[in-house]
Amino acid sequence: MKITFWGVRGSIPCPARTHVHFGGNTSCVHVSVAGEEIILDAGTGIRGLGRSFLRRGIDRATLLLSHTHWDHICGFPFFTPAYDARWSMRILAGHLPHEAGIRSVLASQMTDPMFPVPLEAMRGARAFEDFAAGDTFMLGEAAIRTTRLNHPNGATGYRIEHGGVSFCYITDTEHTPGKLDPNILGLIEGADLVLYDSTYTDSEFPTKVGWGHSTWQEGVRLCRAAGARRLGIFHHDPDHDDSFMRGIAAEAKAAWKGAFVVREGRSVLLQPGERGERLTAAPSSYADISLPR
Ligand SMILES: [Zn+2]
Ligand SMILES: [Zn+2]
Repeated sequence: MKITFWGVRGSIPCPARTHVHFGGNTSCVHVSVAGEEIILDAGTGIRGLGRSFLRRGIDRATLLLSHTHWDHICGFPFFTPAYDARWSMRILAGHLPHEAGIRSVLASQMTDPMFPVPLEAMRGARAFEDFAAGDTFMLGEAAIRTTRLNHPNGATGYRIEHGGVSFCYITDTEHTPGKLDPNILGLIEGADLVLYDSTYTDSEFPTKVGWGHSTWQEGVRLCRAAGARRLGIFHHDPDHDDSFMRGIAAEAKAAWKGAFVVREGRSVLLQPGERGERLTAAPSSYADISLPR
């Protein structure tokens, strides 16, 4: 299972000299597993991923959306492969089962006068499917488990499992101090890598209650309690520049050796190890990949 981070920022893109090291694009993670190309969220990072798919001749993918706040869908109209009728893309979301559904929500951001090209022009976007957070399903040979997160307007957390390795994508969600979220604990149990909404620090959190986000310290508490192996600190606050994020990286690593700050443009390979020991990627085994612009 190869996981590549195309966008790691929360709330709004922040391309600036002060944010180059960790990255300014909003949420988009690519999971390549068992012949499946799975995209988690369509923030601005998805634009580069689309170009990479075209260059590599990849012609099908599945997009799993955590939810439809702007920072998670604003890259969608710029995912160029989906405009090609020879392309095949499935789009799934788990937070809208009782509303209009994911197709109409994505169509609404591509309407006059906000955007010149309608969703119908994306002829490769073939299937739009709503499920209820908590459902489980298969994507090829990869097993997908989901859970409901605590976020305004709803959000879905995902666990992707194949060949004895597992990866969880948990954003956006707010915790209740002193009470670990049982939905999340169940989903991330024993996972090899958990990406977690770490928008704030514990010291910032009291002024952000009700905003729908969590802290890296809560991510550590959850991963430890659930026996997860690695925590990827994710969905960085745009107000946290590189020097602030370096501080978080050092503090988090000191707090728990499994924690690291996720950087745009990096990837992690999860593979089953020998003698039943699963080998997971540490920050030191991060493989640099090039992201053509
Ligand atoms: Zn977000
Ligand atoms: Zn959100």
